[in-house]
Amino acid sequence: MIEIENLRKEYRQRDRTVVALDGVSLTVRPGEIFGVVGQSGAGKSTLIRCVNLLERPTSGVVRVNGQDMTRLRGAELRRARQRIGMIFQHFNLLSSRTVAENVALPLEVMGYPRRERQRRVAELLALVGLEDRADAYPAQLSGGQKQRVGIARALAAEPAVLLSDEATSALDPETTQSILALLRDLNQRLGLTILLITHEMGVVKEICHRVAVLEAGRIVESGTVAELASRP
Ligand code: ADP
Ligand code: ADP
Repeated sequence: MIEIENLRKEYRQRDRTVVALDGVSLTVRPGEIFGVVGQSGAGKSTLIRCVNLLERPTSGVVRVNGQDMTRLRGAELRRARQRIGMIFQHFNLLSSRTVAENVALPLEVMGYPRRERQRRVAELLALVGLEDRADAYPAQLSGGQKQRVGIARALAAEPAVLLSDEATSALDPETTQSILALLRDLNQRLGLTILLITHEMGVVKEICHRVAVLEAGRIVESGTVAELASRP
């Protein structure tokens, strides 16, 4: 589903080059929840942004559904990106738009007719348990509700893959549990493939099938959660 081969990402700064990813390879299988865990600065965010080409890799291959994302440009890249949902630590909702309007945004961009948008938005809000907050504004919601909106928006285009960038890091422990339960539920009910990054081993233990540990741009360990736990 997601194949990353020998991925390298350098950031050029004025007088030096930062190597954020140094030969990362991993495969996320269809229907799997795969976690990448590591400390701040390890390269997690760069890695996940290279999957949907928010960052362009310096070298290496990123295939999603068999398609090499690094070869795509322009309209082709935008179309491929629609098949990849993403959720964020700080939700990235538009504060001047209601919950329903936020969720409708990707559908508008894709040119869904109004009726169909409304139907689809209602379906998505039901999926994340927010059907009664369609007309609320983000400022009126709790953190957990905001992330539910983020998840509904990410799933609007029926992506095969969901990328999660520290999606529970701004939430309290109880809310974190409820968002992780929702992600697990979506994984099981829709067969949604999830690649998530986090600095919290607890998150990984809670929902990931397999894990890779990233340190200074390299994968230093990988396996099932049980395998990692049994190592010294
Ligand atoms: P993480 O998400 O694990 O905290 P990042 O991917 O954000 O790690 O960062 C990895 C490394 O790349 C860090 O050394 C960071 O300072 C550097 N980095 C990230 N983004 C940029 C950028 N836009 N320009 C220069 N350096 C960057
Ligand atoms: P506009 O008149 O600019 O289309 P609307 O407020 O009518 O703005 O709606 C924007 C989008 O939000 C529409 O695409 C619609 O599908 C969706 N939407 C608005 N309110 C609801 C609602 N209560 N339930 C479901 N979808 C809604």
